[in-house]
Amino acid sequence: MFKDIFVHVCILVSFLFAGSLFFRNNPSIMNFRKKVIMGILTGILGSILMEFSIGIENGTFIDLRHMAIVTAAFLGGITASLIASVIIGAVRLLFSDVNGTLIAITIVTIMVGLLMGIIKRLNTSPFKQWFLMTISSTLIYSVVLYFRIRHLEHYHLYLEEFLVLSIIGGIFTFYLVHFLKLHNFLYFDYKQQATYDYRTGLKNVRQFELHLSEAFSNPNLKKNTIGLLFIDIDHFKQINDTYGHPAGDVILKEFAVLLKKSVRKQDKVFRNGGEEFSALLVDANLEEAAQIAERLRKSVENHSFTLPDQSSLQVTISIGVATNSKKDESSMDLVNQADEALYKAKETGRNKICWIS
Ligand code: GH3
Ligand code: MG
Ligand code: MG
Repeated sequence: MFKDIFVHVCILVSFLFAGSLFFRNNPSIMNFRKKVIMGILTGILGSILMEFSIGIENGTFIDLRHMAIVTAAFLGGITASLIASVIIGAVRLLFSDVNGTLIAITIVTIMVGLLMGIIKRLNTSPFKQWFLMTISSTLIYSVVLYFRIRHLEHYHLYLEEFLVLSIIGGIFTFYLVHFLKLHNFLYFDYKQQATYDYRTGLKNVRQFELHLSEAFSNPNLKKNTIGLLFIDIDHFKQINDTYGHPAGDVILKEFAVLLKKSVRKQDKVFRNGGEEFSALLVDANLEEAAQIAERLRKSVENHSFTLPDQSSLQVTISIGVATNSKKDESSMDLVNQADEALYKAKETGRNKICWIS
């Protein structure tokens, strides 16, 4: 029996852990697709738990399949729990001799899926939801156990074993699911923080360096030309000093939108820091890069930025344009060229685009 329990727990832990990998991206959004995947995975888990059930006396078996349904409801709501329970019920019918009891158990399993989904909708804490789900599913399967055994004299022995296993299994699964959920949230949060700039939602300077070196290690580079724009908002310090830091923040955000709109689909844009941005232009020669830069400069010049006090403000930008037209240039050369070009734009009056010929 202990060997069976060990196998059961190993299946539960490894399956929940492996399953959590499917939900690592954007775990706070549980859309219909994810709910269906959750239902299918927990349905498979419940079926495997049923297959590797725990043998107690006289050839009677118990298992924690209801924990799979509880997990489905807890994480994916009624859609997931219904799918899971239907899969578990169907697998049971497919791989056993069908009789009245079995059909009744299958119907009960689907009802448990429905009930768990309803409990999940209760407006109460996650811990209470889990507690209610564990208790109610345990009670329902205790009754099911009676109908499987059909002789009352030994029932209380089986019942004790089932209750102990189900309650301990319920607490254990709760902490495991809770840990994995938290782990996924933190993983995603750290990944976002390491990749994106919090203020504008654009990729950050680390991503800029990564994408730039990737572009230069591309074997097609000899054919393609990489364009680079270094963009700096003019007199931004003065804007901050005159209208306040929150106004500056709003301009950064609005500018990021204009920047994204001005480049082509295949280009990538970044906030390199402060009021400095960049655009990595895929397969663009100097003429095309200058065209994109000019389009951006004009769109900013013609845009009215709305400040937090609802007043509007005109802002200008300066852009340094560079391309790796000499094929042997390194990424550092390109960056220096764009930097130099931006410096030239600032020196010669701002609100303009420049390149180094
Ligand atoms: P120039 O035209 O030569 O580029 O002058 P500038 O004032 O734009 O440049 P400078 O480098 O002197 O000032 C940049 C300012 O950007 C200083 C800094 O306080 C401000 N800044 C940097 N990050 C943020 C931010 O996240 N929010 C706000 N509101 N301001 C920021
Ligand atoms: Mg500036
Ligand atoms: Mg600057």
